[in-house]
Order: sequence, then C-alpha cells, then structure tokens
Amino acid sequence: MQATDERVNLLGLSPARLRAWFAEMGEKPFRASQVLKWVHQRRVEDFDAMTDLAKSLREKLKQVACIETPEVLLEQVSSDGTRKFIVDIGGGNSVEMVYIPEDDRATLCISSQVGCSLTCTFCSTGRQGFNRNLSTAEIVGQLWLAEKRIERRLPTGKAISNVVFMGMGEPLLNERAVVDAAELMLDDHAYGLSKRRVTISTSGIVPAIDRLAEHLPISLAISLHAPNDALRDELVPINQKYPLDVLMAACDRYAKVVPHGAIVYEYVMIDGVNDTPEHADEMIALLGPRGDEVKVNLIPFNPFEGSDYRRSSRNRIMRFATRLRDAGINTVPRKTRGDDIDAACGQLVGKVADRSRRQDRLAQMGLDRGVVEVTG
Ligand code: SAH
Ligand code: SF4
Repeated sequence: MQATDERVNLLGLSPARLRAWFAEMGEKPFRASQVLKWVHQRRVEDFDAMTDLAKSLREKLKQVACIETPEVLLEQVSSDGTRKFIVDIGGGNSVEMVYIPEDDRATLCISSQVGCSLTCTFCSTGRQGFNRNLSTAEIVGQLWLAEKRIERRLPTGKAISNVVFMGMGEPLLNERAVVDAAELMLDDHAYGLSKRRVTISTSGIVPAIDRLAEHLPISLAISLHAPNDALRDELVPINQKYPLDVLMAACDRYAKVVPHGAIVYEYVMIDGVNDTPEHADEMIALLGPRGDEVKVNLIPFNPFEGSDYRRSSRNRIMRFATRLRDAGINTVPRKTRGDDIDAACGQLVGKVADRSRRQDRLAQMGLDRGVVEVTG
C-alpha cells in the first residue's frame, strides 16, 4: 500500500502511541491490542482483513492510516545457514539485516541508521558516513520482514528468538525510534520477546545509556574495543566525548537495574593493534573489579576493502581469552558466521551499490540475472 503524507503508518506506532492515537479518534484503547496483533503477529497489510474490527472502523482506518512495510532487495545465503538481506527503505537507500540460526534459537541483527556518523576506524559502516536515521517502522519492519520470510520456526512458533541492534548505525543516536521499535518487540500483542533477548549495541553514548536504564532496561552490548583512552580515542572516536571512566560508571549504573549478565563487552580483535598480552592485562585492570558479572565477547576483525587492519590469528585470540579467563572474566571468542558472504556490517550494502551499477550495465546489455544470490 502506498502511503500519502497524511496517512499514519501503523507499523511504526509503539503500543503506547497506538493507544493514544485510537483515543484521539474516540476509539477504545483495546483497539490498539487488536491492531497490534493483526499487523505484527498475523502480518496483515490490508485493513479489510481485520475482521474483528467493525466495518465502519476499517473504512475510517483506510482513510487515515496505512501499513507500509520494507522490502528485500537482495538476499544471500551462507553455507552455515546465515542469511543476509539488503532491505530497501525507499529513496535509493538500503540497510542490512542478518539472520543467524542456531540449534534452539535464531538471532536477527538489525540496523538503526543508514550509515553512521561515528567513524570507528575498523568499521565499514563508519567509512560510508551518515545518511539518515531509520524510522520506527523501518526498524521494527526488519523483524516483521524476517518473521514473514523465514520458513524455519522455533518451538515457540516464531522465526526469531533474539534481536540485536548490531547492524548499521549507532542505535543510541536514533534513540526515540529505536526505543519505540524495542517496545514493540517486547509487547505481548506484537512480538513478545523478553527484555533479555533484545540487545542494543552501542559505542557508548552515556546519557542515552542512563535514559535506557530508567525507561527500558533491555540487554546492552558495549563496543569497548580498547582498554585505554589513548587507543580507544583512536579506534572509537566517540571515546573523546565519553571516555572510559565515564562509560564504565554508566555501565555500573545500568548493571544495577538489569539481571546478571545483561551487559556484554564487545572487543574486536585486530592484529597487532589491540590484541597483545599487555592489552589483555589492561582489560583485566579495567573490568576485573566487576568480577564474574562481566562478560566479554572477542570478535575476530572482519576485513573489508580499503582497510589496512588484519584479523588477529586464532592463536592470539585464544591467548587473549585465556588471560582474561584466568583473571576470572567470562570471555567468549565469538565464532565468525557467514564469512563467505561478507559478515561485517556495512560491507554488503557497499557491494550492492557496486552490484547495482553492474546490474544496470548488464541490464543494458540484456544480461541481467535477477538479484537473489546464493553462495555456499
Ligand atoms: N554502532 C553500534 C552498533 C552497530 S556496530 C556499535 O558500535 O556498537 C555492531 C558491532 O559490530 C560493534 O560491536 C562493532 O564494533 C562491530 N564491528 C564493526 N565493524 C566490524 C568489523 N569490521 N569487524 C568486526 N566487528 C565489527
Ligand atoms: Fe558506527 Fe558502530 Fe560502526 Fe562505530 S562500530 S562506526 S558506532 S556502526
């Protein structure tokens, strides 16, 4: 359905906003629960199909509202089952979403912005610059799309059990839309995920971390990547604004309002840059006082074109992990998934831009073969 400027896209209204919207129209708040179920659980895009709403209300909704959902531009399937999607969000813009199936769960990695303004040196999204924030509908629309498209169902009947904001963009610099989308993910009339299973990954926007602690204490992944300010200033430049002592104090405040283990520290392993035994010792000094409450994920650096960094060797990653573990820090070297389809965020969109130019050229020659590509 095509949206006009005046019509509200109901896909992007949080439960509270939807209730308020119905109240403004003189309708009962329970209409919001009914519509949430139709839109997010039954994935109906047509008001006529909402059979438990009075016909007069359906007619009214058609005039003032719409349900506009994102579309998949390209899908790649890895040999390990990971699936990457380029999601078209209109105006020539697209973002990435990644589906990662495991035995008893399935994680969806979603984007919150087109590009990112924060220029972390190891990140391909950061290299692309910032284009715009995604709307709530475009964020929750990624989960909507995955639930619609992915055939494999978990015992709960759902396709997705966990959502992580680890795609493109800094979620806490698009706070309102991200929080509204997360509220939809948690709502029982929509996706019904528990707070533990929705994770915001952030480079450390301290005031927004504090607001999240107060309003929506979901799981948090802190992109640490360096154990001292000098190195972190370089790798994660937002550190110059919110240095490590300020960030760690915010994490400690957050830890007080979430269950044990709801904060994870992410550390990308870059050969010779942040992966030496001395760096491990600095990590121990930084995190150690927090004891076994702390969890560290070591992520092998994902190389991309134009970057001089190299991935730390498996050996080096294991040695780093052992050193942290010996000091009582729960450390998990993360498996790389979807390596054969360019796992690091931001890489695929860059490729699609190239590809679509190539696609145009091929199309001009009458040689284009469609956009779905399956590898592995
Ligand atoms: N902006 C947020 C969330 C998106 S990035 C953040 O920075 O946390 C999601 C995760 O991917 C972050 O931990 C980020 O540091 C990591 N990442 C970015 N580029 C990477 C690369 N080339 N290799 C491995 N991890 C990378
Ligand atoms: Fe932005 Fe996160 Fe990439 Fe840094 S790592 S540039 S914050 S997306």
